Amino acid sequence: MVRRILHIDMDAFYASVEQVDHPELVGKPVVIGGSQRGVVAAASYEARKFGVRSAMPIFEARRLCPDGVFLPVRRQRYQEASHQVMQVLDAVSPLVEQVSIDEAFIDITGTKSLHGPETALIKKIKEAIKHRTCLTCTIGIAPNRFLAKIASEMNKPDGWTIINGEDVAALLQNLPINKIPGIGPKTAQVMKELGIRTAVDVLRFSQEFWVKRLGKGGVDLYERAHGIGPTAVIPHRAPKSCSAEDTFAADTGDMEKLKKWLVCQAEEVGRDLRKHRVKGKTITLKVKFASFKTMTRSTTLPKATHSTRIIYDTALKLLLALKLTEKVRLIGVGVSNFAVGMEQRSLFPNTFLHKQEDLDRALDRIHNKFGCEAILRGRIGEIESD
Ligand SMILES: [Mg+2]
Repeated sequence: MVRRILHIDMDAFYASVEQVDHPELVGKPVVIGGSQRGVVAAASYEARKFGVRSAMPIFEARRLCPDGVFLPVRRQRYQEASHQVMQVLDAVSPLVEQVSIDEAFIDITGTKSLHGPETALIKKIKEAIKHRTCLTCTIGIAPNRFLAKIASEMNKPDGWTIINGEDVAALLQNLPINKIPGIGPKTAQVMKELGIRTAVDVLRFSQEFWVKRLGKGGVDLYERAHGIGPTAVIPHRAPKSCSAEDTFAADTGDMEKLKKWLVCQAEEVGRDLRKHRVKGKTITLKVKFASFKTMTRSTTLPKATHSTRIIYDTALKLLLALKLTEKVRLIGVGVSNFAVGMEQRSLFPNTFLHKQEDLDRALDRIHNKFGCEAILRGRIGEIESD
């Protein structure tokens, strides 16, 4: 059966969420960045007109767009909006794969009898998301993942593009080679040397030629140039690691402040792990100093965990073991090395652990019901332990 894959991408996601929460910012250049000294996390379309782009240093963005509205990253708020978007998508099909905070693939093959023609489905999704979050998105539908992604980039913002099998050949004629996924800087250089600009140019050479030049990537490239690509949509692919990090507004050597941030980050990471029903064995602490020197330290625990408390305790130990000879610019916590499946509670009670699990569950419930700003765990040092 010919598959139909839908790709959805929210428009200028972080910046749009801020414009929803602060309507006075609609139509203004909005730039989201970690702090004065971080990099741009997102820019509204108005800011992009000034040349502001993601990952650009904030000072550079300020130079390009001095009248822009610069806002801190509210990661939890964006997660919340993302969650609402994904809930809308989950109602469309069980085959939804979230690939980033604001992007997902949906396999919509054979859903016509349920949702009507593709144009109707697009309208339905866009309206539901708008209704739920006041946000706009752009949608692409095509026979496979990479074409669907290309389609969703074609009509941004608040647009849509449908690519049918018979349109593919014409599309590839003019498709710039850098739009094909998997073309890194090295391959791009090869392409340039060979005078290849569009996808069809690839077909001037044989598959054997490409395999010789690029190895296995040569097969993929040759297939993409024919419009062939993966179609599998894997629902809710579990992340391989969960982490949270923050750049401070000003460098700090204040241990109490660092601990406070670690609590929040452990909470965020723990909640993420519990949401995905995974536990991890390796806890990593990342510290970037004022001099930009970065250090990471990890501990692998005997037992996998998703407990906020254990993540915090472990990260704190790592922090205390570091000699802080200079002020800290950024701190972060991550959990990786996931164990598969959730284990059952041991029959032999470990009261401390059980209490922590109950506390985590209770806080997660409040969080899910009232949103992330409803509750902030007290300093973990103040939570009773036995
Ligand atoms: Mg986006």
